[in-house]
Amino acid sequence: MRRFHLLCPSYSGSTMLSVLASWHPEVIGFGDTYPVLPDYSSYGCLCGAPLLRCPMRQAIQERMARCGYPGYDWMRWKAVPAEEEHDAFLLSIEAATGAAVYFDGSKSPDRLLLEPAPDGLVRLVKDPRDAVASYRRYFRGGADAYDVASMFWLGYWSQARVADREARPTCTLYYEDLVAEPAVVLNRLWRFMGVAEIGVPPEAETHVTGHVSILRFRKCGIENHGGKWKQELSAADIEAVHRAIEEFDTEHLAARYFGSA
Ligand SMILES: [Zn+2]
Repeated sequence: MRRFHLLCPSYSGSTMLSVLASWHPEVIGFGDTYPVLPDYSSYGCLCGAPLLRCPMRQAIQERMARCGYPGYDWMRWKAVPAEEEHDAFLLSIEAATGAAVYFDGSKSPDRLLLEPAPDGLVRLVKDPRDAVASYRRYFRGGADAYDVASMFWLGYWSQARVADREARPTCTLYYEDLVAEPAVVLNRLWRFMGVAEIGVPPEAETHVTGHVSILRFRKCGIENHGGKWKQELSAADIEAVHRAIEEFDTEHLAARYFGSA
C-alpha cells in the first residue's frame, strides 16, 4: 500500500483535504488520526458513527488483533510506533478497505521524522493571514500577529522542512486553489498519488476524524472558510504578517500572497 503524508499547520483546511482526497475509491484517509488530547469525545467519524464504533475503524482494529495487536488503540497518540506495528497497521488498513493509498492526515512532522519514509509528501498551504486570523479566533488571545505568523505558521513549516530530510517527492497544493477549482487540484493530487484521475469528484462517505462542529452537518465538503482575515486583521496586523513572511520566507510565499519577493 502506498502512503502519503500530509504537511499542513492547523486551521489550514487539512480536514477538508483529507475528506476530498478520500472521495477517491482507491484512497483512504482518516484525517487527524492521532489527536493529542487523551479525551477525544468531542470528535467522531464523518460516516456518522462515534469514533470507536465506526464499522471501518472496528474492521481495522480486528485485523490488527489478528496481526498480534489486540486492543490496538490507533486513535491515541503514539510517539513512535515500532516498524512492525506500523507495517501491520498499513496491512490492516489495506485488507479492511481495499484502498491502494493511505493518506496520513496527522500533519505531524514528528511522525514524518520517526516513521518509515512515506512514498511522498503533500503540502497544503493557506494564506498566512487566514492562518493567523484563525489561530487568534480559536485562542481568543490578543497575540501579536508577527509572533503568531513567525511561531505558529512559519514555525510549522520550518519544522516540516527539517523532518523532510530525504527530500521526498512533494506535491504542493494551495487552499485557495482547492476551493476555487477542486476538480483540477484533486486530480493533480490523485495523479501524484498514482491513482486514476476521476474528473469532478463525486461526494462519497468518508471515515475522516471530525470535530463536533463539523459532525453537526455529518459531512465536510468544499466550503471556503478563507478570506476572513479581511474583516479580522487590522492594517498593522497584515503588515506584521507580511514582515514575518518576508523575513523567513524561502518558498516564495510572500510573492504569492503579498505580491512582493
Ligand atoms: Zn467511520
